[in-house]
Amino acid sequence: MKTCKDVEIICTKVQYREATFVEKIKIRLHVLFCKTCKTFSKKNTKLTALCSEANLRTLPIEEKEKMKKKLKSKA
Ligand SMILES: [Zn+2]
Repeated sequence: MKTCKDVEIICTKVQYREATFVEKIKIRLHVLFCKTCKTFSKKNTKLTALCSEANLRTLPIEEKEKMKKKLKSKA
């Protein structure tokens, strides 16, 4: 699973438009259960914009759960 540091790095990449869609999804999932990054995201307009972008491309809940399990098993 992505660490807070990884999320920070990806956020930086997002600013330079170098982050992939998968990386954006990983941030989105991380923010779901990480209070620190959730707070950070509220303060960070770039990440907030990213989150709303991810929301526009929301996957069905089933797909999200599958993705979460996949990410967890890879960690
Ligand atoms: Zn975090």
